[in-house]
Amino acid sequence: MKINFIDLQAQYRAYKDEIDSEVLEVFSSAQFIGGEKLNSLEKNLATYTGAKHAIGCSSGTDALLLALMALDVGAGDEVITTPFTFIATAEVIALLGAKSVFIDINEDNYNIDAYKIEAAITSKTKAIIPVSLYGQCADMDEINAIAKKHNITVIEDACQSFGATYNGKKSCNLSTIACTSFFPSKPLGAYGDGGAIFTSDDELAAKMRMLLNHGQNERYKHKYIGINGRLDAVQAAILGVKLKHFENEVKLREEIGSRYSNLLEDAAVITPKIKETNTSVYAQYSIRVKDREAMVAKLSALGVPTAVHYPLPLHLQEAFAYLGYKEGDFPISELVSKEIMSLPMSAYLSEAEQDFVVQAIKG
Ligand SMILES: *Cc1c(COP(=O)(O)O)cnc(C)c1O
Repeated sequence: MKINFIDLQAQYRAYKDEIDSEVLEVFSSAQFIGGEKLNSLEKNLATYTGAKHAIGCSSGTDALLLALMALDVGAGDEVITTPFTFIATAEVIALLGAKSVFIDINEDNYNIDAYKIEAAITSKTKAIIPVSLYGQCADMDEINAIAKKHNITVIEDACQSFGATYNGKKSCNLSTIACTSFFPSKPLGAYGDGGAIFTSDDELAAKMRMLLNHGQNERYKHKYIGINGRLDAVQAAILGVKLKHFENEVKLREEIGSRYSNLLEDAAVITPKIKETNTSVYAQYSIRVKDREAMVAKLSALGVPTAVHYPLPLHLQEAFAYLGYKEGDFPISELVSKEIMSLPMSAYLSEAEQDFVVQAIKG
């Protein structure tokens, strides 16, 4: 059996007619930047999440960068985040000349340990970026409460959690700003790079809209130093189609995720723990195994692709050596990074494929 890690071809086949016709409309209209497809996508993204403003942009990385730029984060500032994430989360902090202050994760959901945040807050702390990893939201209520007390802004890195819920509310509508990614393999993926920023704050929304378009407030009038961080119309058109089917895909992903967990109950692996107040969109279905190298090799020999998100926490990355962290600083992140591995996951994973993956793990 040949199993895809994420079956994007099956998804295209399912929506082909709609996607082709939307994309061809963009081609004939020649409205490639901005325009109706982008406006309607933004409106639908806002409705979907409940946030007042949704702003399309060029990637999840740029969404995070624009959020920090809107808060005037720069040299001398500190931003608290987790070392157990994709590098983009902390990269943008460094790009602006600010300092990443890492906090270890909790072992239940692999997200930042909210109870360790307060001790790390200083007079320089400008923002906290919790990451809603693998599709499950971080402990946003606790984090928001600490941030409010210290007058700090919370930016949810929701690049993996678009579609997840927390206490009945949607990810991307849980903090002052949220950022998501439409990288093809994310739960809502474009056919290229893309992302979105969410906020219910009118001023921040207006500023981020300017920042992503060279800080322009009217044509060739530049209020801020910005970037070219726009989402193009072709991607917006494709995302518009996929968003219509997204709630159904979220349901399928949830079913497939819980089916994995049920089937793996008696296997020698640790399956994801989803809090009863949360639903996960399973951007990754990640398990922990004691001897990962052996498990990866065994599955690979049977044709089951896997991936590791992430093998080395950020505080031990060469690029962040200048921050002065060392091995042992964040023991849970370090332990989980040695044991974690992700299994094939998409709304199009069949039961037969899933059974095959599970048998391969147990056999
Ligand atoms: C994917 C991802 C990003 C970056 O998104 P891009 O669209 O690839 O720039 C940032 N943070 C996390 C947690 C991600 O998974």
